[in-house]
Amino acid sequence: MAKKQGGWAEWDKTMLKAIQTWGRSKQFGIAIEELTELIKQILKHTNRGEENRAELLDEIADVYIILRQVKIMLAFTDAEIHNAIHKKVERLRTRLEI
Ligand SMILES: [Mg+2]
Repeated sequence: MAKKQGGWAEWDKTMLKAIQTWGRSKQFGIAIEELTELIKQILKHTNRGEENRAELLDEIADVYIILRQVKIMLAFTDAEIHNAIHKKVERLRTRLEI
């Protein structure tokens, strides 16, 4: 297999295949699991002061991947996600007075 560059344009084919293979219900369940796993790693880091950067990175990657699938399952466009984030960042900038 040829080496791939990576990026959502390419990864989305795999996201779609995962949704088609396992179904929406299963993938929504995975989303809850992955979010919970990230929460656990954040708690280890903040409450127990554990040095768990590798685990945090792993869970952050899992959450990005499954959130991408959630985005696809709910038929949100890249533009909708971009605009929603942009609005929130602008609101944050206002609160930060920057
Ligand atoms: Mg995970």
